[in-house]
Amino acid sequence: RGGVPAKEIPFSRPGSMTRVYAVASGKGGVGKSSVTVNLAAAMAADGLNVGVLDADIYGHSIPRMLGANGRPTQVQNMIMPPSANGVKVISIGMFVEGNTPVVWRGPMLHRALQQFLADVFWGDLDVLLMDLPPGTGDIAISIAQLVPTAEILVVTTPQQAAAEVAERAGSIATQTHQQIAGVVENMSYLPCPHCTAEGKEHRLEIFGSGGGRRVAEGLGRLLGHDIPVLGEIPLDPRLREGGDEGKPLAVADPEAPASQVLRSIATRL
Ligand code: ADP
Repeated sequence: RGGVPAKEIPFSRPGSMTRVYAVASGKGGVGKSSVTVNLAAAMAADGLNVGVLDADIYGHSIPRMLGANGRPTQVQNMIMPPSANGVKVISIGMFVEGNTPVVWRGPMLHRALQQFLADVFWGDLDVLLMDLPPGTGDIAISIAQLVPTAEILVVTTPQQAAAEVAERAGSIATQTHQQIAGVVENMSYLPCPHCTAEGKEHRLEIFGSGGGRRVAEGLGRLLGHDIPVLGEIPLDPRLREGGDEGKPLAVADPEAPASQVLRSIATRL
């Protein structure tokens, strides 16, 4: 209505070479953001051009987890994203003052996402990862409209309750006609440290087991084709520490079991 027409989103252009993934979960706290930053850092370490768009308006923890302390700058009519660990990152949190919670309504969020996709100077990305808020909300729908080719990556824990809501979050793909890249099970088990010290392997299944498989099977039935479980990431206190310190474990210690799973997922995307 008399406004400036929205700029074209490079990732939705036919023939765009950028693979776009929307990382989704049913509930919060399952490690969606941790998985996103570790995958991004692992891909960047493998030589890919990677961007992360933090669209989790409730969490927006991605910049800290990646160690991106810089602010976006404006050059002509483009926003230059800060980068860290070789990953370009833009977050809704960079555009609010301090720790102010974001209380935007749907249409405003849609416009913000449109801007993040079209007005940010991403350059020639091989991969763009978008960290969605938990659940099935306005943002997931907006992403599907703005970048219909975005594939959904579902993160869950092994727990039945988490898996049920994760499946619901993934099932949005049937309405938006998006592809599901696969399911990542996080916090799958804790390798018993005493057993490891004795050269034995024993897995403590703190959150139960089978959540990832159940989500993949449920979504597979819904979509009529197989959905892969891309990996089962163990619990590792260093993964949390790496997030707190802005040093993703997948690159800080690539040999850690959690890192090996993350890196293998990164090569499959
Ligand atoms: P979400 O984005 O789903 O809300 P986060 O990535 O913020 O979840 O993770 C929630 C908390 O769990 C964070 O403190 C994070 O460091 C921690 N965490 C996530 N995955 C693991 C893991 N595999 N091992 C140990 N801690 C983890």
